[in-house]
Amino acid sequence: MYGIDNWGAGYFGVNRKGNLVVRSPENENLTADVREVIEDLRKRGINTPVLLRFPQLLVGQIRKLQTAFKRSIKEYGYEGDHLCVYPMKVNQNRAVIEEYLREGSRYNFGLEAGSKAELYAALALEQAKDSLLVLNGFKDRDFVELAFAGAAAGKNVVIVIEKMSELGHAISFAEKISTENPKTKLPMLGVRVKLYSKGSGKWEKSGGEAAKFGLTTTEILEVIRQLQDAGRIDMLQLLHFHIGSQLTDIKRIKNAMKEAARTYSKIRQMEIDIKYLDVGGGMAVDYDGSRTSFESSANYNAQEFANDVIYVIKTVCDDENVPHPTIIQESGRYLSAYHAMLITNVHEEIETVVEDIDPLSIDEDDPQVVKELYDLRETITAKNHREYYHDALEHREELFTMFNLGLISLEDKGKGEVLFWDVCEKADQYAQQKKYVSEEFDDLRRLMCAKYLANFSVFRSMPDNWALEQLFPIIPIHKLNKKPSEYATLCDITCDSDGIVDKFVDLHDIKPVLELHALTPNEPYYLAMMLVGAYQEVMGNNHNLFGVPHEAHIYIGEDGHIIKKVIAGDTLAEAVSTVRFDAVQLHDQFRRTVMKKIKDGSLSSSEGNDLIEFYEKQADGYTYLSPNNGQ
Ligand SMILES: *Cc1c(COP(=O)(O)O)cnc(C)c1O
Repeated sequence: MYGIDNWGAGYFGVNRKGNLVVRSPENENLTADVREVIEDLRKRGINTPVLLRFPQLLVGQIRKLQTAFKRSIKEYGYEGDHLCVYPMKVNQNRAVIEEYLREGSRYNFGLEAGSKAELYAALALEQAKDSLLVLNGFKDRDFVELAFAGAAAGKNVVIVIEKMSELGHAISFAEKISTENPKTKLPMLGVRVKLYSKGSGKWEKSGGEAAKFGLTTTEILEVIRQLQDAGRIDMLQLLHFHIGSQLTDIKRIKNAMKEAARTYSKIRQMEIDIKYLDVGGGMAVDYDGSRTSFESSANYNAQEFANDVIYVIKTVCDDENVPHPTIIQESGRYLSAYHAMLITNVHEEIETVVEDIDPLSIDEDDPQVVKELYDLRETITAKNHREYYHDALEHREELFTMFNLGLISLEDKGKGEVLFWDVCEKADQYAQQKKYVSEEFDDLRRLMCAKYLANFSVFRSMPDNWALEQLFPIIPIHKLNKKPSEYATLCDITCDSDGIVDKFVDLHDIKPVLELHALTPNEPYYLAMMLVGAYQEVMGNNHNLFGVPHEAHIYIGEDGHIIKKVIAGDTLAEAVSTVRFDAVQLHDQFRRTVMKKIKDGSLSSSEGNDLIEFYEKQADGYTYLSPNNGQ
């Protein structure tokens, strides 16, 4: 029903209790029961929403990628190496980067930074001796200077030239430093090429002639000329391209590889010893599990990707008679997406459909429009449901028009609305029995279904779902051995009508509603938003001042889960500080207002003090909803 095996990459499953489990990539018999993790966290006072991190899944993805390339290199007799640099922007969280470096250092995997702040953090982290630190993005003089400082401190820094001005800074720093001390290690340089080839999917604008990034052919030749004139051509070591994230179509990737490998070969033939070909990131995550070129999917796996990259580059290089370059890969989404999930509780259901309280009867005095709606309700069938649904829509319009003109009473309007929703419910039932459900009935389904109020902010925890309609799998973490009885969409707790989730992963289509269990009073119902480990955390925003959620790091061992670390989410004081309110100042101001009330006698001083104390205690509260009775 939820497609775990399609999108889960083998990491997730359901146990006998009907709970969602996470499997250890090294041994699939070792599992963590997510429901039990949440129970344990609750005992420590950590309520949902909470972000669970499974560092082992990050390791699992690194190994998958590394193994795939190693296998292709062997199979095709490729003579170069394959190295990864992790693009920090995907998830700069210290825990993620440290775990990546711990595992990645075994294969000389390094880092990629795209801004001064990322570089500032990266320079202090320990990397493997032969790993690279690749710098993309637009750079000013300070950025370039910091890169030189990193090289002097021993890192294998590569400054990728995106703009001609960056080259000027690099050449002048190189001159200055080598005159001062010729033994100082200098950074390497790279150039980012603007390819004609484009990717596919939501980020295809990153490639092609009109792309924001990269140098044109004439600019690259100019870089080479200037470096030769300055006697610094040996600094040029890398050719870079990146045609976009979440590349859904393997054919487009192959075309880009061909074009880039040709460019590399032609530069090599100019007697310039470029060692690295950096193929960028973009390996897609199959969020919906459909294995198609749909935006939230990918029509290839890691092995197919590696095979195509290695094979294409080898073929072109052999054809041009140049050595095989070391391939640098900057995949971030693929490595990071799986390791994190956000667990939230459904707070309650929001009623939208009007239901009658008493059995509804019709009499002679009722207005014509109400009588007609009544007739529709009584005579709707599988055959006429579409027509009757359209009629009902018209009658409802009429109902509202007549009400606005003062022609019908409040009771008549209420009666008409109940009848309208009854017709909709029946039409929806008939429509769903059909093999193909037309779009208008998808909309109706969204309208008719239950609306579950989920204790989280889409803007904070799943921003790409809001901004780009990117799909993430959503699944209850328990009751997975019980058939769900409801269809529901999710509303978040922000005061924003965009704060909803009404598109869900499906193998063949996009589901307008999600199958969920009926809510039981005094019993919590938990949902997991899956594969949110890439981009979502740092892109998430402060809308309504919902802060960073609690976070827990989970290790899967012989005896199930071990909670390795708990990091409390933002408090109210921290949330307001993001918009420059200071808790101390707020407390002062609140105290002054209360003092006035004490002075004018409307509060006793002990009441006033209690009020102040109560207010100040809020500073440490969680920004999300607290559990209802038992929830
Ligand atoms: C964003 C970015 C990446 C990472 O892309 P993914 O799709 O996450 O693999 C790699 N390289 C550059 C230059 C980027 O800007």
